[in-house]
Amino acid sequence: MTTIAKNLQTINFAIAQGMRLAGRHKDAIHLLAVSKGVSAALVREAHQAGQHAFGENYIQEALNKIELLRDLSLQWHFIGPIQGNKTQAIAAHFAWAHGVDRPKIAERLSAQRPADLPPLNVCIQVNVDEEASKSGIMSDNLLDLARTVASLPRLKLRGLMCIPAPIEGFENQRIPFAKLRELLQEINTHGLAMDTLSMGMSHDFNAAILEGATIMRIGTAIFGKRSYGEAK
Ligand SMILES: *Cc1c(COP(=O)(O)O)cnc(C)c1O
Repeated sequence: MTTIAKNLQTINFAIAQGMRLAGRHKDAIHLLAVSKGVSAALVREAHQAGQHAFGENYIQEALNKIELLRDLSLQWHFIGPIQGNKTQAIAAHFAWAHGVDRPKIAERLSAQRPADLPPLNVCIQVNVDEEASKSGIMSDNLLDLARTVASLPRLKLRGLMCIPAPIEGFENQRIPFAKLRELLQEINTHGLAMDTLSMGMSHDFNAAILEGATIMRIGTAIFGKRSYGEAK
């Protein structure tokens, strides 16, 4: 068994155990393997070990890998911050975008989504720490953006995503994830039907599971330490 196959087995086991402890069904969560900084050959290895969905942060790196792995049926998620000049490539080559945090970006993604593809699945990134330096929309403006995304014809509003500042301690880690869960519930009372909480990384996924994560974005625990590309 390769190291990646072993790591995947370990993380899948840990997730299943966390779901059991949280009283949740194991099918209610999906593992997104974050492959930024990882070669196409290692992504192929992860796919051979049963992994289907992969997350990338940097568009040029992602496009190269997508091209090299075209023979596989993989699901690609763009999880990095989205600049206006990147929307066309994201709309054309990804199934999901997790970092949408402005109406302008949502409008461009919808306008540029090719007609032969299903609508692009979108998670809105929320700045749960309310720090001016971080990506994501402030919670006060979230409802307006959610309505915009839901109204765009070539987007499908799926849910919310966050990257909390790293904190020690299980109980502390739960706080921003609980906040994201509560925001999703509140926004859904306005007639929106989001079903996705994209939250939890290698160091805090157990706290995210307990607060209702449905997509966990995990890189290091599968592929080992990266030489670059920290989340913001
Ligand atoms: C890099 C990254 C991850 C994965 O982080 P790990 O600590 O390697 O598990 C998850 N989400 C986003 C947005 C990232 O940029």
